[in-house]
Amino acid sequence: MCDACRADGQNYVFKNKDSNLYKNRLYQVYRDGVAKITLCRIHDIELFRVGEHRFLQSNLILANKMVSNNRFFSYG
Ligand SMILES: [Zn+2]
Repeated sequence: MCDACRADGQNYVFKNKDSNLYKNRLYQVYRDGVAKITLCRIHDIELFRVGEHRFLQSNLILANKMVSNNRFFSYG
């Protein structure tokens, strides 16, 4: 499941027409670690295109979840 779609309450398979998932790392979320997230193709492309900072701004629910629930987004 795509973390950004799940935060939005969307079904990523319907949106993407395929179920491929891509692992990504975000470096600006935790001061002392790397946040690992799984993204669908659409969100993977979005992250690549706009960059981490703007990606988090346009996915605020996901950003909030990562900040408040850092055990789910394992880091190290
Ligand atoms: Zn997605």
